[in-house]
Amino acid sequence: KTDTSRYIGRFAPSPTGTLHLGSLVAALASYLDAKVHGGTWLVRIEDLDWDRNVDGADHAILASLQRCGMQWDGEVTWQSRRLALYEAAAHTLRAALYPCACSRKEILDSRLNRNAVQAAAPVYPGTCRQGMAAGKAMRALRLRVPPPAHSTIHYTDRWHGALSQDLADAVGDFVIRRADGFWAYQLAVVVDDAAQGVNHVVRGADLLDSTPRQIYLQQLLGLPHPSYLHVPVVTNPDGEKLSKQTGAQAFDTGAAPEVLLRTALLPAARFLGLEIADAASLDDFWRRALPAWERVLDEHARAPSTQA
Ligand code: GLU
Repeated sequence: KTDTSRYIGRFAPSPTGTLHLGSLVAALASYLDAKVHGGTWLVRIEDLDWDRNVDGADHAILASLQRCGMQWDGEVTWQSRRLALYEAAAHTLRAALYPCACSRKEILDSRLNRNAVQAAAPVYPGTCRQGMAAGKAMRALRLRVPPPAHSTIHYTDRWHGALSQDLADAVGDFVIRRADGFWAYQLAVVVDDAAQGVNHVVRGADLLDSTPRQIYLQQLLGLPHPSYLHVPVVTNPDGEKLSKQTGAQAFDTGAAPEVLLRTALLPAARFLGLEIADAASLDDFWRRALPAWERVLDEHARAPSTQA
């Protein structure tokens, strides 16, 4: 059994491209938080989405982390090598799963979503809950969530405070295995965090919306709940999350440490509110980054209780 009194954190990049400012911010925050708590920092490559994986991006990300001075503990894991674990978890959930024949377009066109004012993401209208219409072929496997008012997940985020989401209202029955046959991120992340003993998740606020689904899966699977800290996400001038698709500048993996410091680490640190503007070297940066992160935590997020 995992000893939950010791901090275990992780950085879990999807290898859809090399590290850029947006992903470095998540890496840096999770690394610093693990270090100031004397914890372990794992790296897990979330490469289940074969259509979006970019060849070699995993190793480029790992090389960038190392060149920046962020050395992970233990061995890097790849989700694509852990499919049996997700299959086993889906088997445990089987009584709550059902086959769904709906296409994305059908879900978007459903009355529920057509009438929704600015729905952040489409809510599944429950079309296949009582069975697929005759002649329709199965696409995804979905997990049944309890009805509205019975599916509210409450949790405390170390940065954002008390939060809640009604799963039925905000998401609906959600996908566990996708139409293309891949296990959904929500399932894989929950299975892996538990299997690796991760008890502190630090990641970008673009995933705040996913956390209640993950907590619900932890409940159903009888897994412990990690503590969560969602740091702000870097956006481009149009307000879109920075990603390769929205024009993020990839770092030059081969760049000299001083160049990475100036073009990557210092901008990421500034974004997180760390006061280390004039670090002269990587060593100097890391010496000052730890106390600077503690000051950021004092302002935004109290230190976690490790007895969660
Ligand atoms: N793989 C996800 C991403 O790159 C992050 C998952 C997580 O931190 O839970 O957006």
